[in-house]
Amino acid sequence: MYNTKNFKQSEFACKCGCGFGLKDGDIDTGLIDIAQKIRDYVGVPVRVNSGCRCVSHNARVGGVKGSWHTKGKACDLSCEKGGKALFEAVKALWQKGEIPGLRYCIYYKKGNFVHIDVGNERRNLWEVRA
Ligand SMILES: [Zn+2]
Ligand SMILES: [Zn+2]
Repeated sequence: MYNTKNFKQSEFACKCGCGFGLKDGDIDTGLIDIAQKIRDYVGVPVRVNSGCRCVSHNARVGGVKGSWHTKGKACDLSCEKGGKALFEAVKALWQKGEIPGLRYCIYYKKGNFVHIDVGNERRNLWEVRA
C-alpha cells in the first residue's frame, strides 16, 4: 500500500468494491504524489471522487473505453474550494515544475471537479468542459 501524508492508496480503489486499486502495482504511485502536491497547495481536504475503475465499473459510470482510470493512472478530485481552485492549483504546480508526470488535466465545470492523469503525453495538457 502506498500512502502519503493525506492520502491512502485505498481512497483510489475502485468504488464498486472489486478491490482494484488495493494491491501494489494497481495504481501509478506518481498519481498519488500529484494528488498530495495538489492537496498541499490548496490547503484543504481533497476528495478522490473516482480513482481506479475496473472495466465494468468504468462502463457503468460512463467512462470512455480504455480510460486511464482502468489502468490506475487517473483520478477525479474535488474540494470545498471548488474544481476551479483545483484546476488553478494544478496549473501553478505544473508551471513550477513540481508535477512533471502530469499528462492531462480536465476541469469539469458542472461537476465541479478535476480529472488528472499520468497516461500518454498529449498535445493539449489542459481542457475545460461544461
Ligand atoms: Zn471495480
Ligand atoms: Zn476522470
